[in-house]
Amino acid sequence: MSLQEKLYKHLPIFLQNVACSIKGQKIAKRRYAPEFFKMFESLRYRDRITKKEMEQLQLKRLRKSLETAYENSTYYRNLFDSLRFSPQNLEDFSQLAMFPILSKQTIQENLSSMINRSIPQNEVTEATTSGTTGAGLVFPITLECEWETWSIWWRYRYAHGITFDTWCAVFGARNIVPLGQKKPPFWRTVSPTKQIMFSMHHLNKNSITSYVDAFNKSKIPWIHGHPSTISNFASLMLESGLKLDYQIEHISIGSENLLEHQIYLINEAFGTQPIQHYGLTEPVANISMCEHGKLHIDEDYSYVELLPIDNNSDKYRLIGTSFSNDALLFLRYDTNDIITLAEEQQCPCGRSGRIIESIEGRKDDYIIMRDGTKIGRLSTLFREQMHIKEAQIRQEKDGKVVFYIAKSEYYTDEDENNLIKEIEARLDIDYEIVHVDNIPKTKGGKLKFVISDYEGKEK
Ligand SMILES: [Zn+2]
Repeated sequence: MSLQEKLYKHLPIFLQNVACSIKGQKIAKRRYAPEFFKMFESLRYRDRITKKEMEQLQLKRLRKSLETAYENSTYYRNLFDSLRFSPQNLEDFSQLAMFPILSKQTIQENLSSMINRSIPQNEVTEATTSGTTGAGLVFPITLECEWETWSIWWRYRYAHGITFDTWCAVFGARNIVPLGQKKPPFWRTVSPTKQIMFSMHHLNKNSITSYVDAFNKSKIPWIHGHPSTISNFASLMLESGLKLDYQIEHISIGSENLLEHQIYLINEAFGTQPIQHYGLTEPVANISMCEHGKLHIDEDYSYVELLPIDNNSDKYRLIGTSFSNDALLFLRYDTNDIITLAEEQQCPCGRSGRIIESIEGRKDDYIIMRDGTKIGRLSTLFREQMHIKEAQIRQEKDGKVVFYIAKSEYYTDEDENNLIKEIEARLDIDYEIVHVDNIPKTKGGKLKFVISDYEGKEK
């Protein structure tokens, strides 16, 4: 804990609110600078260009990114020279295939020779990715890159009617309310960014009434957060028979995949269909849901390659090349995420971005069956399970699979039998169902859906 955090913990609540607003003001000043709004307007225009215009824009941006890397990064200069490639001669996307797929590990090992040192320190910030194996990556991003990423997120929000003036209830991971605080308010107000930050660590059966009261009092129209936290909020409301006395207009989720039973709980509690987008700290891919509920790749943001996993599937690895981060180029970066492409590639919204059927989740969101077969898309096991609050699947060292289930009060023997039927119909595994009160989250507040400690081999 930093000195600042220690001090914050001991401030009275009204001063904590002031401290949050000062911090918010600082973030807003950098993130929402005049250049940001200029960029936002041009991005909104770019959203509607034709497929052909998009390809021209991509080629231009790709060439510029590669040129910048060649001029300023030892790693990329050596790589391009060794392949006799000169970026100004880039004519075609197919030329990218000559470069190896870039892993997070390669960046970690070569970071100092990869980054562009010609950019002044005050024009870059440090970005951190959490990493599923615990190995995080810290890398520099430029202000332009930060503005573009926020512009793309705001473009998606605007498409759904959310504006810069819409107040947002954020269920985030930050320890904004000290853990020792036992009485409400379990939230802090950040006026400059129009946010009320709700603590996810204080959310439980005893405190739920105070959360609902805070919503009813503020009439806040928009909720944003991890789906596991928002669905936990929803489920606590349903169990306690509590309702909001107004209609929440927007629920947007990020950071984790949205699972079927979570959509059900959120719909039941709020009567609002959640919207989602896919984004990463690494500026290599962004996917936004449009007004018609389709997930489009934001083709103007980066160059996304979809590499087939095998010949007979519609699943692809998501590989991305960054356009906007002059401080560090991500060239054919492996996101480790798997997506399914939609069969129907036309959307009434008119955007030309490729349409994704579903984001399958991490490449490691799989378990291995007795015969060595790898099985993913496990969330579908819970498709019919509406009385589950949280679920986690863990494959142990010896191959046994444990389903950790936090059930709601409506969960019956019938639900359990249906789950058993579903598991046994689809998976040839040794397994056990274990009931728990709740499932521990990662340091970043995420619920990891599949964890594997399995030491055997897939076939
Ligand atoms: Zn669309």
